[in-house]
Amino acid sequence: MRKSLSLVLLGAALLALDVRAQDAKGVLDAAAQAMGTAGLHSVQYSGTGSVFMLGQNFRPDAPWPRFKVVKYANAVNYDTPALREELVRVDDENPARGGGAGGFNPATGQGGMRPILGEQTQVRQATTRTDLGTLQIWMTPHGFLKAAAANNATASAGRPRTISFKARGKYTVTATLNDQNLVERVETRVDNAMLGDMLIEDVYSGYTAFGGVQFPTHIVERQGGNPTLDLTVSSVQPNGAPTVEIRENAGGGEGGGGGAARAESKSIGEGAWDVTAAGLHSVLVEFSDHLVVVEASSNDARSQAVMAEAKRLVPNKPIRYLVNTHAHYDHSGGVRAFAAEGATILTYELNKPFFERIFKLPHTINPDNLSRSSRTPVVEGVGEKYVLTDGRQTVELHHIRGNLHNEGLLMVYLPRQKVVIQSDAFHPRPGAKPYPTPPQFTTNFYENIQRLKLDVAQVLHIHGGMDPIAVVARAAGKS
Ligand SMILES: [Zn+2]
Repeated sequence: MRKSLSLVLLGAALLALDVRAQDAKGVLDAAAQAMGTAGLHSVQYSGTGSVFMLGQNFRPDAPWPRFKVVKYANAVNYDTPALREELVRVDDENPARGGGAGGFNPATGQGGMRPILGEQTQVRQATTRTDLGTLQIWMTPHGFLKAAAANNATASAGRPRTISFKARGKYTVTATLNDQNLVERVETRVDNAMLGDMLIEDVYSGYTAFGGVQFPTHIVERQGGNPTLDLTVSSVQPNGAPTVEIRENAGGGEGGGGGAARAESKSIGEGAWDVTAAGLHSVLVEFSDHLVVVEASSNDARSQAVMAEAKRLVPNKPIRYLVNTHAHYDHSGGVRAFAAEGATILTYELNKPFFERIFKLPHTINPDNLSRSSRTPVVEGVGEKYVLTDGRQTVELHHIRGNLHNEGLLMVYLPRQKVVIQSDAFHPRPGAKPYPTPPQFTTNFYENIQRLKLDVAQVLHIHGGMDPIAVVARAAGKS
């Protein structure tokens, strides 16, 4: 009796699955028909709007900082498949708050610090050779329908209609159709070192016919809950030449986990080392019975390399504190690895609730050490000044008041070594023409050093380099 009931239930389940699969084909066909997808092999579209930099907000609860997009062009070849996106942005926020200027490029003299001067061009190439490249192509409205048709999609029974398929056996990509069977929304989750299984949402509206193909004239992308792109499309060319070519190095990064990193170190004075890994700097400070590390950038892999170097330089002392200068993702993606090791995370008090919240987010796509650990991370919010000392070695944390790069920005002062460690308040710009006026980020940083009456010889930059204080004073317009 029991067995036959199970068989009946199994039969019903199989029938239901079959209906779902057949239904998905019908739903996909109807959508492809309404959208004009079958005859579309490539599309080029252009427009203007805004781009926003993920993880570079002024404070952890603010949206990503905005840049104006004066020119946007995207070419997608669905047959190759490949995609090439080019955008030209200007920094028209006044005042420009938050980060996202990108690394300083000596060839163009751009980036490194906001405000960005003039126009800055960014190019993104994607192919299906990488996870993120694949998603970028298959999350376009027509790309979704083509990929869903080729990847055993399933459809929801109710309204609104949703269709899902699995990309690269790993990412569930889901589209919602509107009443006209047009793709109005595509979403998936990707790994992010900070946010874990991070939601990416593309919302398509204002559909208009271009040569028999329906294409949205308004595109909004959100990542981690806030917009990263808001585009008004002004021109669409279906099946127009030239097509996009695959480049060997195309596809962008894989994000999150990263590969193995190697760390190198050099002494910056008694019991203190500048530790470099993956192009970014951390500082190791030795106390009588423990260690302190300043900054855990990028991701888990980089932090593992820094911790290994710390153990090599000073065996048998635990890393008790990890100092986080600010909550921008390029400076915090490796914090979780230190938390998993049992280090207390020291950050400006404004950032404490943010870290406590994100430490609980699931990391199932690319599990890291903290997600595998049963440890509860300890975050300690620090105020305007916080001192770690054993009587001989001292590390001082000072809030940089009023800096427009980030509201929760700390500088770290090592009085014995007369070194200040700073993030994103000054960038060396070798070969670049100077700013027409000293940038607020640097002027404010230097004024904070003066306010605190710190005796500083050298300034160490988390993004690389160490300069005499006079160099920073000059850049701040104070000498
Ligand atoms: Zn920053």
